[in-house]
Amino acid sequence: AFLDQIERTNAEVNSFLHVDTEGALAQAAAVDARLDAGEALGPLAGVPVAVKDLFCQEGVPTTASSRILEGWRPPYSSTIVQRLLDAGLVLLGKTNLDEFAMGSSTETSAFGPTHNPWDLTRVPGGSGGGSAAALAAFQAPLAIGTDTGGSIRQPASVTGTVGVKPTYGAASRYGVIAMASSLDQPGPCARTVLDAALLHEVMCGHDPMDSTSIDAPVPPVVDAARSGDISGLRVGVVKELGGEGYEPGVEQRFREALALLEGAGAEIVEVSCPNFAYGLGAYYLIMPSEVSSNLARYDGMRYGLRVGDDGVRGTEEVMATTRAVGFGDEVKRRIILGTYALSSGYYDAFYGSAQKVRTLISRDFDAAFEQADVLVSPSTPFTAFGIGEKLSDPLAMYKSDLCTIPTNMAGNTAGSFPCGLSPDDGLPVGVQVMAPPLADDRVYRFGAALE
Ligand code: GLN
Repeated sequence: AFLDQIERTNAEVNSFLHVDTEGALAQAAAVDARLDAGEALGPLAGVPVAVKDLFCQEGVPTTASSRILEGWRPPYSSTIVQRLLDAGLVLLGKTNLDEFAMGSSTETSAFGPTHNPWDLTRVPGGSGGGSAAALAAFQAPLAIGTDTGGSIRQPASVTGTVGVKPTYGAASRYGVIAMASSLDQPGPCARTVLDAALLHEVMCGHDPMDSTSIDAPVPPVVDAARSGDISGLRVGVVKELGGEGYEPGVEQRFREALALLEGAGAEIVEVSCPNFAYGLGAYYLIMPSEVSSNLARYDGMRYGLRVGDDGVRGTEEVMATTRAVGFGDEVKRRIILGTYALSSGYYDAFYGSAQKVRTLISRDFDAAFEQADVLVSPSTPFTAFGIGEKLSDPLAMYKSDLCTIPTNMAGNTAGSFPCGLSPDDGLPVGVQVMAPPLADDRVYRFGAALE
């Protein structure tokens, strides 16, 4: 049924870059055989899932939405893909994203933008717009994403779906194409809080193949999603994440969500995180620095595209030509920014200062979590914007992630949950719930209370 729905709607939505019909049907048959053989599989056995095209899956085209990886088929699967297969999930195919996950609208994809199923003239957010749109278009019941600065939560917000960024280190990055390694974190996308929690449980857990993987039990996210009991818990409203620049309809639905939480027995307090104001600026130094290092591997020699190799041109020229043709503008912009920020003489002023800001943001979180069990904000200042509207203005685009970036900087956990449609334009609004590291269950508990 999901393959049929993809077939019917993908030309309009462009959420899937590759539909693995044969593989999915074979996996489904294998699940049947395992169940027939008496194997005890978990609750998601046989449930289809869409995979952001940043996760390596053995033998299945994996592009990161970049020309530079077009035609590349990974020789191995990421830990998370393997975990999904082991748990009996059925992988429908690979979903569209901003090139190398750099963007907030899925418009920087080399393979065309994804359209928001709520209004096809608008973006589905990004970078994981393909996964979020696949859920909103009922092409898949579950999807996986990655969140470096908001790429799970912001698309969830603007498509009326659920998306959670687990605690940094909770879900393995092994086999996930790297953007900014100290910020990247895979996580679940779904239409309901319980679905997301069930997927979270399959995705997360220690992986010796990832040096930053946390060796601790996965918090009881499914129990929390089933319970939704928040009575007596304290909710901190972050003063700095609201006000000017936030759409009135977004603010209104956010205030209503607070009232709902209060009605469910939570206590609302205001907290201040003054250094969040510098989050975006510091992120756009740290992230491109890591990007410039991670993307050095695309040299036209080892993977995918190679341009200009005529047996006469030298290695450097082939490399330069391949990169000129293979990378899009946003990727080039960030490589240049990062290379500049890391260059000798500027390193301390830019990268060093940004790392200090990062520490200050973590301290803001620590102080706020002494006053509240979770922190909340709108997930993003505005609802889905028009395709093309912000593409030529990178700074306007970057503001999409004002509310989500602090959590990536500090490494704690947060999710976005639907909280109604904006009275301004009838489009979905999301509320963000942030919790301390390893308290992922609190995010689901509040998500369930909001549902
Ligand atoms: N939109 C943010 C950026 O462009 C976040 C991307 C992400 O989380 N992958 O960097």
